[in-house]
Amino acid sequence: MAYEKLELLIGGKWTAGTSGKTEPVLNPATEEVLGHVPHASAADLDAALEASREGFKVWRSMTALARQDIMEKAARLIEERKETYGENLTLEMGKPFAESKMELDFTVGVLRWYAEEGKRAYGRLVPARMPGMRQMVMKEPVGPVTAFVAWNFPGVNVIRKIAGALGAGCSIIIKASEETPSTCISIARCLQEAGLPDGVLNVVFGVPDEVSRHLLASPIPKKLSFTGSIPIGKHLQALAAETLKRCTMELGGHAPVMVFEDADIAKVAKMAAGAKFRNAGQVCISPTRFYVQESVVDHFADAFAAAAGEIRVGNGMDEGVGMGPLIGERRLGVMQSFVDDATSHGGELMLGGERVGNQGYFYAPTVLKNVPEDAMIMNEEPFGPVAPIASFKDFDDVVARANKLAFGLASYAFTQDGARAAALADQIDAGLLAVNSFVVSTPETPFGGVNESGYGSEGGTEGLDAFLRTKFVTEVGV
Ligand code: NAD
Repeated sequence: MAYEKLELLIGGKWTAGTSGKTEPVLNPATEEVLGHVPHASAADLDAALEASREGFKVWRSMTALARQDIMEKAARLIEERKETYGENLTLEMGKPFAESKMELDFTVGVLRWYAEEGKRAYGRLVPARMPGMRQMVMKEPVGPVTAFVAWNFPGVNVIRKIAGALGAGCSIIIKASEETPSTCISIARCLQEAGLPDGVLNVVFGVPDEVSRHLLASPIPKKLSFTGSIPIGKHLQALAAETLKRCTMELGGHAPVMVFEDADIAKVAKMAAGAKFRNAGQVCISPTRFYVQESVVDHFADAFAAAAGEIRVGNGMDEGVGMGPLIGERRLGVMQSFVDDATSHGGELMLGGERVGNQGYFYAPTVLKNVPEDAMIMNEEPFGPVAPIASFKDFDDVVARANKLAFGLASYAFTQDGARAAALADQIDAGLLAVNSFVVSTPETPFGGVNESGYGSEGGTEGLDAFLRTKFVTEVGV
């Protein structure tokens, strides 16, 4: 099977760009070069900006029904090509093939959701204080959008930006990750084949800092949507402030998992291991701090480590593999420093704690027990397959520890007590809370963090709203 041809999409034309620069895309399981992604020059970025301005005029003037039709067709094309795109996604990102196909199902779901929801960008009529006056609140697309996204979900991260913008009637310039460019390109090809007018979607790659400075300095994009780390999010928001662009920030997380003694411990431990090691822990909503009530912590840790020990690590294209490599060599050293720091603080290594093999960026599923609160891993996002377990005394103790960090993305709790679940819903300082499951993300529900995990939602009616602006119009005598 051929890996995707890596190109830029500017004004409806696929191009290698004019910079002459490229960078290699590696398969993290084999370290083989899959292809070379072209870098956009300043002139290419200017052309993309101009195209997005023109594309916006065309797209916003079409009916929501006509836009839905194109988005639906593209969704069908992605669905039909799921095997091929799924393989490419695994080749460049490393996750198991089955996970890649699930990600593409979600990608299609998001595209369909926004295609449909675009018809519901309702305004309202407000009764006036004067006879003969009509007061209208109108919703309009915010304008051309610029978006930058991380590599960990090459389909979902990208489609949340593209479909949200398109559903609302906006054009978009997106820079997907240079490490995982093919899925974004494939999605763009499907939209183009489905009849998306030229310039509505532009895909660029390059040196991230150069691309974002160039695009954000322009007054053409009216909105920035970013998925990535907290430091880069803060930096981009500062750049966007120069032209006062609206922002949506989907940033890092450090999700607490609160396991109370009334939960079904064996069942929860198994589920938790599945959730923790999905995508090798490289998930912003990955469960990352396991707080288990004192009376059941040993039972939980043993069952969790047993389930983790059964996960087969290897090339995501191989049958039976449950966890692939990390995205790059740099992440192996980061994982080791989390583990070494935890053990030096008195944490007990139950499983893993080392690189697997010497080709590809594989790190073993790792479980640490009795990890103290001052260990680095209890405070910084690990973004990898390392799970720290600690015990807690009671409700107040665990809620205080769950809420202690500046992060506020996902959180999880396991209990049979309805009153306790309700109290957690009130008191947990996070954008997402799942009680007795690890499901916090669907196309039709709002997804996003609070505090330093960012702000703004993707998905749900809130996700469409993020790409709309409000206009108030009064009319007298018409
Ligand atoms: P990162 O912020 O370094 O990079 C993320 C993306 O932004 C990449 O595509 C990168 O090329 C790009 N980027 C980096 N610097 C940039 C710049 N100056 N201008 C424009 N783009 C730039 O993050 P990372 O470490 O590669 O990714 C993991 C982080 O992303 C984690 O913190 C994770 O939690 C977060 N994340 C959040 C969500 C969410 O929805 N909240 C989803 C996925 C990942």
